[in-house]
Amino acid sequence: MQKNCIYLDNNATTKVDPQVLEAMLPYLTDYYGNPSSMHTFGGQLAKGVKTAREQVAALLGSDESEIVFTSCGTEGDNAAIRAALLAQPDKRHIITTQVEHPAVLNVCKQLETQGYNVTYLSVNRQGQLDLNELEASLTGNTALVTIMYANNETGTVFPIEQIGLRVKEHGALFHVDAVQAVGKIPLNMKTSTIDMLTMSGHKIHAPKGIGALYVRRGVRFRPFLIGGHQERGRRAGTENVPGIIGLGKAAELELLHLEEATKRERKLRDRLEQTLLATIPNCEVNGDPTQRLPNTTNIGFKYIEGEAILLSLNKHGICASSGSACTSGSLEPSHVLRAMGLPYTTLHGSIRFSLCRYTTEAEIDQVIEVMPGIVERLRALSPFQNDDAGWLQEQSLVNSH
Ligand SMILES: *Cc1c(COP(=O)(O)O)cnc(C)c1O
Repeated sequence: MQKNCIYLDNNATTKVDPQVLEAMLPYLTDYYGNPSSMHTFGGQLAKGVKTAREQVAALLGSDESEIVFTSCGTEGDNAAIRAALLAQPDKRHIITTQVEHPAVLNVCKQLETQGYNVTYLSVNRQGQLDLNELEASLTGNTALVTIMYANNETGTVFPIEQIGLRVKEHGALFHVDAVQAVGKIPLNMKTSTIDMLTMSGHKIHAPKGIGALYVRRGVRFRPFLIGGHQERGRRAGTENVPGIIGLGKAAELELLHLEEATKRERKLRDRLEQTLLATIPNCEVNGDPTQRLPNTTNIGFKYIEGEAILLSLNKHGICASSGSACTSGSLEPSHVLRAMGLPYTTLHGSIRFSLCRYTTEAEIDQVIEVMPGIVERLRALSPFQNDDAGWLQEQSLVNSH
């Protein structure tokens, strides 16, 4: 990646904080032993891992014994869902939402083929849930409710504790994919209704390949990876010690910066959003305008393709993301935006900008400067400017191929 690029794709992944790298380095060079070994090596490593566990627990407001290190957010989600079902073999119903990350959604889809019943809660135009629909879906047969804290595409934040209270009334387990919320929203598992919570290192300035799963004490847990006794029998496999040390340091920094960084990011994000809305016609924000992550804005630009905007931004050294995943040449619109019922004219032209604590005023100014021209140029190339019907017809032709 260009060194001087303007990186506004932090919901996809983040850069490793230099302090995180510094903390990890000794564990990639001198301290290469196995933390389970009985010699001094093992003792030193175990101490480092213990400190990291305390740092992660502090960020989540949990006890260190409730933290299980994993390889990534995807593993945490998989492990939590499987554990909840194995612990309650008589219950065959799962509740989730239509807008989850594939790490939850595709597990649920597979479980449907294995005799489980899955309810996919809908969202409204703002991407928000209807708690009455949740209430109506909960039964004595519901083993698990698995709902994300904040959406990676739109930043919409769900009322997790209100959801949790309803889940608890029905005796189901409550798992939360908090990969996007950790470090952006203050968390306290001690006063929470959450039974299990997933987080991932590379979304909070630790490296890829490390994550953690919070498992409330007393929740019956069955390991997903079976083998040795690591992580108190909850996750087999020799510990990724450098990764764990990095995650611990990253967690410490997130907690240290949370208040001031999120305030700053919100201000920058709001300025970016408001200026783009004011200077570019025919665009709107996707997601809940108030219940939203401070670092994320997802904006729909009518009559143009998000991919074309991304390519133009890339020429200016700006990295953002489109709401849609480009699969084998056919442009498949995002399942999140589709679930929100976005009109076809905006569905394909949505861009996500996601900030982090390194984002500067000057970088936001640069985006504000180039975006209106990019959109104008692309729209001038589109024969369907302000022509919803024409755009719709063209899209249905494209998608039928
Ligand atoms: C990134 C992400 C994941 C997956 O985490 P990995 O560590 O990349 O496996 C899961 N859920 C959400 C909401 C995410 O944003």
